[in-house]
Amino acid sequence: MADNFTATAFYRALKEEGQIVGVKCQACGHLSPEPRPMCPICHGFDMVSHRFSGKAKLDTFTCISIVPVSMAAKGYGRDKPYCSGIVTLEEGPRISARISGVDGANPQNIKNGMDVVLDVADLDEESPSVAFKPA
Ligand SMILES: [Zn+2]
Repeated sequence: MADNFTATAFYRALKEEGQIVGVKCQACGHLSPEPRPMCPICHGFDMVSHRFSGKAKLDTFTCISIVPVSMAAKGYGRDKPYCSGIVTLEEGPRISARISGVDGANPQNIKNGMDVVLDVADLDEESPSVAFKPA
């Protein structure tokens, strides 16, 4: 079942099931959105799949106007910045994600603490990344 602990498995679940499927440590209960084979807290190996709700709150964000080539190909750039942030999942863990459905040119409209939900419609085939949008 080592296949369950790969980035490939993580993105397959994201695409096919529309969910973040991470792991839960059976020994100490630690939850991790990353599908890791070993618990970072107690170092145990008794990890089982855990499906996260996809609900979160935006902790912090930044809007990026000097963009990588992959984002420039989608039309982002100086005139249309995209947003990246850190969200806290409903279950507690924090995760880095792109923030979709917001206007990066007007960041005053994006609020720390706002409710966000997983956005799998915005999943990129070539360079997949987790995205959340306003709830
Ligand atoms: Zn543990």
